[in-house]
Amino acid sequence: MSSPFRQAQYLSSAFKLDQLPADEGLEIAFAGRSNAGKSTAINRLTQQKNLCKTSKTPGRTQLINFFSIDQDHRLVDLPGYGFAKVPLKLRQHWDGVLSGYLLQRSSLTGLVIVVDIRRGLGELDRQLIDLVGHHLAVHVLLTKADKLKSGARQKTLKQSLQMIPASGSASCFSALSGLGLEELEQHCCGLLGLGTHIKKPRLNSQG
Ligand code: GDP
Repeated sequence: MSSPFRQAQYLSSAFKLDQLPADEGLEIAFAGRSNAGKSTAINRLTQQKNLCKTSKTPGRTQLINFFSIDQDHRLVDLPGYGFAKVPLKLRQHWDGVLSGYLLQRSSLTGLVIVVDIRRGLGELDRQLIDLVGHHLAVHVLLTKADKLKSGARQKTLKQSLQMIPASGSASCFSALSGLGLEELEQHCCGLLGLGTHIKKPRLNSQG
């Protein structure tokens, strides 16, 4: 089955709120601690190796990156957080921009919080959930699941579900093995109101 996310294309980047694309249509954003596996998860979801630059240097992605799926739907890659070496001024800048974006953006329908399953939900992840949990659909993506055995995975999944609002959801994921990919696709499609197929507009045979 073909996934609509394969069509994702880089659209634009923003350092400040006035650089965001028009607040129209629908979008879902991906957040997470630096090095959690966010870029790798987006690349796997879109089946494109280099859509998001994955980097082993934590803290490098310092822009909000927008990817269009079609005219009305977008994926958004938010700057990673929790990297100690980021200068205080820049961290404060991003705190302001991110809370502005997350609280004011009308087209934003959901937030996927990418978490390294071996670490579980941390303090910064929980702060983010507290900020948006009452107005956005929050999904915790426990990635790098290939690093744990099934029993330990299920335990972290259960613990995570207990820490998020009842309206939230969580799943295990591995970009390496593809575990949980279909579930992630379906969840993102649901948030964006997309079918798993995007039908191209039928051309009028008369014209
Ligand atoms: P980001 O900073 O959150 O965007 O993290 P990256 O996507 O750059 O990933 C950080 C590191 O984790 C990289 O070395 C990735 O190869 C690795 N990684 C990401 N996802 C997985 C996964 O599902 N399994 C394993 N084993 N490693 C992963």
